Amino acid sequence: MNPREHINQQILNRQLEQLMEDAGKLHGHFCPGLAMGVIAGYLGMVKIKQYSDGLENVLAIVETNNCLSDGIQYVTGCTFGNNSLIFKDFGKVAFTIATRDGRGVRISAKLDSRAYVKSAHPYFSENYKKVVKDQIRTEEEIQAFKKMGKEAAFAILKLDFDKIFDLTEVKITIPAYAPSHESVICDKCGESIMSTRISEVNNKKLCIPCANKSYFQLDGHGIKSILK
Ligand SMILES: [Zn+2]
Ligand SMILES: [Zn+2]
Repeated sequence: MNPREHINQQILNRQLEQLMEDAGKLHGHFCPGLAMGVIAGYLGMVKIKQYSDGLENVLAIVETNNCLSDGIQYVTGCTFGNNSLIFKDFGKVAFTIATRDGRGVRISAKLDSRAYVKSAHPYFSENYKKVVKDQIRTEEEIQAFKKMGKEAAFAILKLDFDKIFDLTEVKITIPAYAPSHESVICDKCGESIMSTRISEVNNKKLCIPCANKSYFQLDGHGIKSILK
């Protein structure tokens, strides 16, 4: 029983447009970054010849937290929630997909791929700057931008992938399976917490916010320490 069977079939049959359409359901909009992620994910799956069982048989290591990563999560099935997604905060358009024996492939954007990819959507970037970066927009402009994003994303699928990505075979160290920890109730707020996240304060077991302890946060800026 594999709920991703239809996705695996689409990979097998190189149905990139269908994969893209569905990846958009996860990502919420279509854009060149998502298209790059769908392509990279597809190339990776073809290369390793193994599909995710959702139980860490295949692992993806993404080197950026942006649109690209959603395409990769959708196509590879390696996600934040099933512990098969590793995030290295390098800010690179690259990802590695590997099986549990550590064998895999690193897929990275070629240095001159930017101009090539842009040739498929000449007007997207100036609109991106206006609508997303500078936040100058009306509702009509947002809708026009989304439409342009969709056209751009599907146009990129028609490009020559050899001109976009470099594929390098790698052998990497795979982390052990994600541990499962027992739950403990915080003595202050009464919420259930993973036992490894407890702080003992004055003989009380407290969660991180109740103990007012520092922690790590992953957000649009990458991983950062929230210091207390
Ligand atoms: Zn996007
Ligand atoms: Zn608490």
